[in-house]
Parts: sequence; C-alpha cells; structure tokens
Amino acid sequence: MMTSRPIRARISRSAFLHNYRLAKGLAPRARAWAVIKADAYGHGQWRAVETLRDEADGFAVLECENAVALRAAGVKQPILLLEGIFSARDALTVAEHRLTTVVHCLEQLELLLASVPGGSPLAIYLKINTGMNRLGLNAVDLARARKMLAGVDNLTLTMMTHFAEADGGRGVNEQLERFSAMTGDWTVPVSLANSAALLRYPQTHADWVRPGIMLYGSSPFAECSAAELGLQAVMALDSEIIAVQQLVQGDRVGYGGTFVAARPMRIGIVACGYADGYPRHAPSGTPVAVQGCMTETVGRVSMDMLACDLTNIPEAGPGAPVTLWGNGLAGYVPADAVAKAAGTIAYELFCALAPRVPVRFVD
Ligand SMILES: *Cc1c(COP(=O)(O)O)cnc(C)c1O
Repeated sequence: MMTSRPIRARISRSAFLHNYRLAKGLAPRARAWAVIKADAYGHGQWRAVETLRDEADGFAVLECENAVALRAAGVKQPILLLEGIFSARDALTVAEHRLTTVVHCLEQLELLLASVPGGSPLAIYLKINTGMNRLGLNAVDLARARKMLAGVDNLTLTMMTHFAEADGGRGVNEQLERFSAMTGDWTVPVSLANSAALLRYPQTHADWVRPGIMLYGSSPFAECSAAELGLQAVMALDSEIIAVQQLVQGDRVGYGGTFVAARPMRIGIVACGYADGYPRHAPSGTPVAVQGCMTETVGRVSMDMLACDLTNIPEAGPGAPVTLWGNGLAGYVPADAVAKAAGTIAYELFCALAPRVPVRFVD
C-alpha cells in the first residue's frame, strides 16, 4: 500500500544487476546461484527474479512451493532448494518441475528415492558437513549415500558444503581440507562458496558459487566495507523529519530518557521506528543522513519514530529527507554501519523490513 506517511524503501534494479555481474566477474569460471531466499533478503523475490531473469545461472530458494511459483512465472534456469525436501510431496514436485534439491541427511535421501518414480531425471546437491555442524552428511553417511545413489539412473550429482567462517579469521582451509578428504576420488561438480568465500578465496569457486548478501550490496566482512568491495547498495530506506524539538542542557529524549542533552540542541523526529524494521537496539550515535549531511540518532528507537541530532543541520526542518540506510535521497548510509551499531548484521536489517513500508522498484 502506498501511504502518505513518508517512509519508503527503494530497491535499485541497476545496483542488483551490478552486484550479480561483479560476483560473476570475480568467479569467471563458475556458474552462480542467485540466492533469493527470505524474499530476496527482504528485497522482494519477484523484483530479484525479474532483474536477473535473463542473466542468473540459477536461483536458490528454500520453499518448494516458491520454486514452483518461479517455474509458473516462466523461470527456465535451474532452481536449487537450499534445505532440500520436507515431504514426499516435495519429492514429487522436485521431479515434476525439474528442481535441483539439496540432500543433507540420509532420511532425506531415502524419502526422495522412495517417492520419485524410477528413471525420473534427478538433480541432487549432496551436502556434506565439513565443520559448520548444521546440515550435512558425515563421512560414514556419505559412504552410505554413495551406495544408495550408485544404482540411480538419470542422476546429476553435485557435492556441496557450507563455510562457517569464510568471513572471519579462521577462513576456509580446514573445511576445504575436510571436503577433499571426504570426497576423495569422487569427480563430480562442486559448490562451496557463499559471498564471503567468493570474495576472499578464489580456490573455493569450483563449479557453482552461491552469492547471497553481496548481491544486495552489503559486505560479509566486519572490517571491509561494501564500497571497498565495489558493491552497490540495493535497498535504500528513506523517510522524513516530521517534527523538530529545541532542547536545553539536561533535557532528555525518548522512552527511558536514555539520552541527555549535554548542551542546547536541535533534534528532528523521523517517521521510522522498530515497527518499520529499524533495529530497536540501535543506540544513540547510530549513523543517519539528513538532507545530504551525516548525523546520529539520539535516544531510544520507538515503534514509529526515532530522533536524530539536527544541531549542525539548521536548514533541515519538517519535510527534510532522511536516509536510514542505503544510497538514499538524503545521502549514503551503509546498512552495515547501522547494523554494526545495533549489534547485528545487515542481513537481519534487510530481512526485517516491515510489510507496512511501501517499496518502490527504481531504475
Ligand atoms: C544463504 C546461503 C548462502 C548465501 O550466503 P551469503 O552469506 O548471503 O552469501 C549460500 N549457501 C547456502 C547454503 C545458504 O543457505
């Protein structure tokens, strides 16, 4: 619903395309799954699909129903189910719609093989646990899976694993070594890299990469900005100043009075709160842009509003544009910087964008 309340999210098609092409350029020999789970990390799955319709090598989603919807919308590329199937019905759907499915445990493999009519083409991403300890087969189960798959006709098999610390100090080496040890002489295509591995470890590119967060213009690394990586912010969250307050020294701001003015100040009230998806845990001092100038939030974020310091932006009054994150009408505020201040990651900010925020698709 378009509302007159001034908050808007704008999703840039050109930035999304730019980031996908950047990922492809960094891993030129690999094909790339555009990871669009969680409604394209809050950016809108259909916008993402339309933008990459002629360009993505494949789309990676979570829900089987969603994959079917993509097929119904004419998506011809491979579609990967990142958690695989959850029911016998899913198994039939996988066969019917030629979906590629992760198999991360023996139970899932048994269900799949028992449900799919013999001889149907089957594309499986066999996921092995190399240290993340979330999903994936161990060495013993992998050997069993290999036996179970030996007699399956029409099988396209890829081996995959997922890195736990590609963005951190430990990197990927230990998991890569385990992957080689576990797969041994098995020569099948391989898929390893999330955004962090794609950006930092070319040795992980293999046959298919799986970029997610980088497509949305955010950095997977705490110590390296999206701009330094050449990424462009896809989502901008904009609003406006709707009121101004003059404070004298000692005045308090917002619920709990957590901010106390140390000197006379002028503050602006912004039409954006935690019910719009702005993190409530963002403390005073979180960056925000107002009418082309960088400033900071003051006081607690409330449900529908937050406050920011306008002392050094005297020209900004009611109606002045505010950018909460992204490349917005009031300036550029990296979502990563807002997330860091709030003790979270940009993934969570994007996914938490509230349905009440009207979204516009631009360029
Ligand atoms: C979500 C996901 C990705 C993408 O991760 P990013 O960190 O967003 O690049 C890749 N692989 C799997 C299995 C995932 O679930």
